[in-house]
Amino acid sequence: MGKKTKVGKTRKDKFYQLAKETGLRSRAAFKLIQLNRKFGFLQQSQVCLDLCAAPGGWMQVAKQNMPVSSIVIGVDLFPIRPIAGCIGLVEDITTEKCRQSLTKELQSWKADVVLHDGAPNVGRNWLYDAYQQICLTLNALKLSTQFLRSGGWFVTKVFRSKDYNALLWVLKQLFKKVHATKPSASRKESAEIFVVCQGYIAPDHIDPRLLDSKYVFEELDLDAKKKSSLLHPEKQKRIKAEGYTAQDIALRNDLAATEFMLAENALAALQGVGSIRIDDKRIASHKKTTPEILECCKDLKVLGRKDIKGLVQWWKDVREILVKKEEQPLVVGDPNADEEKAKPLTQAEIEDMEDAELQTQIDTILDEEKKDLKRKRKKTLKTKAKLHEKMNLNMVIKGDDGPVEETEHEIFELKNISTSAELARLARCSARFRCGRKSSRAGQAVKIQVL
Ligand code: SAM
Repeated sequence: MGKKTKVGKTRKDKFYQLAKETGLRSRAAFKLIQLNRKFGFLQQSQVCLDLCAAPGGWMQVAKQNMPVSSIVIGVDLFPIRPIAGCIGLVEDITTEKCRQSLTKELQSWKADVVLHDGAPNVGRNWLYDAYQQICLTLNALKLSTQFLRSGGWFVTKVFRSKDYNALLWVLKQLFKKVHATKPSASRKESAEIFVVCQGYIAPDHIDPRLLDSKYVFEELDLDAKKKSSLLHPEKQKRIKAEGYTAQDIALRNDLAATEFMLAENALAALQGVGSIRIDDKRIASHKKTTPEILECCKDLKVLGRKDIKGLVQWWKDVREILVKKEEQPLVVGDPNADEEKAKPLTQAEIEDMEDAELQTQIDTILDEEKKDLKRKRKKTLKTKAKLHEKMNLNMVIKGDDGPVEETEHEIFELKNISTSAELARLARCSARFRCGRKSSRAGQAVKIQVL
């Protein structure tokens, strides 16, 4: 994307023309102008980090709107043509090497604002691209947690995919205010949105899972071979983070111990539950309510197969104090048969029966999970088909902005002049360009007054 291409002539929209006329290197630059006009994060900033910056449109805008003595550091996979007062680094923002280069450049300085307009060079399908983009954004955020000063700004582009809400949730843990906005320079048909995060909280410790895409986002697994089972927690990859709020968690997670005890099927009752709340004195004081059981009740998501079996056993032992049934002696054989005398079951036989019952319950749950998986797969295929249809109708534009470096050569190309009006326009542009260069040489930032 940072490379020069010649596709510019087919993209003659208003902002493309304006970028040409004002010497900005990308039409994307206008998005930053509009974002800054709304939130004003550049004026007071001394140090700006622009992640995924090529060809340098955002860097130009940042430098022009920041104080004269400010510094802008741009990072991209591709080299960025020099811009006065800016430093360009060729690095992959997802790597440790990039982190080291930035540490070297910044030394003890912290950034006042981190910008991120990254778009991975993919183009496989929209879902895949959106997933890569949101992971890149999380990488940018991770770098920000190291280089952003407390109270600083983080401004990022995001594609509104299924993981968008999960990202917003993460951002809200780290910033005082999070604004999602779409500047008019961003095409309406594009799924991109800009998130402006204000007031970095700079916590002393950040749980690494918060910045781990494998944990935060739903892995893009269109074939969805995943199975999750309470009895196979080792197969549960991670908690789905999309769109949940603290309230959702509290509502979904909390199961009263009495409700659990009264349930017909212990395993089924535990599905989707995060913790068990002891709400009855009789349960709390029961001898089978051991400290280990109480510990297990606190967080079911971290339990292994053995612990879950322990909870099921606890359910069996304790529920009798709530379910007041007449004790019927367990018998084998046909109680109506005269010849065969009813005899009590041995402990081993009772355990065998319990194991068989447990196995039936496990089979039922696995069966339900299989059906659920099938439904989800069907839904994914339907969404995919819809998306394809939209893309065919050009309702969704893949890799929306694809910035194109506008060279001076293209802007002032004489062979394109065929009328005197065009010549007059060229003269005007040329004069404006000379003026811009002169004043930036004199160290005065040229403010671009467009829109
Ligand atoms: N804001 C820029 C401007 O106004 O000129 C345009 C940025 S462009 C939309 C996206 C950029 O992200 C591309 O230049 C691409 O090379 C860069 N990029 C994608 N993945 C990257 C990565 N892992 N590390 C660094 N840059 C990356």
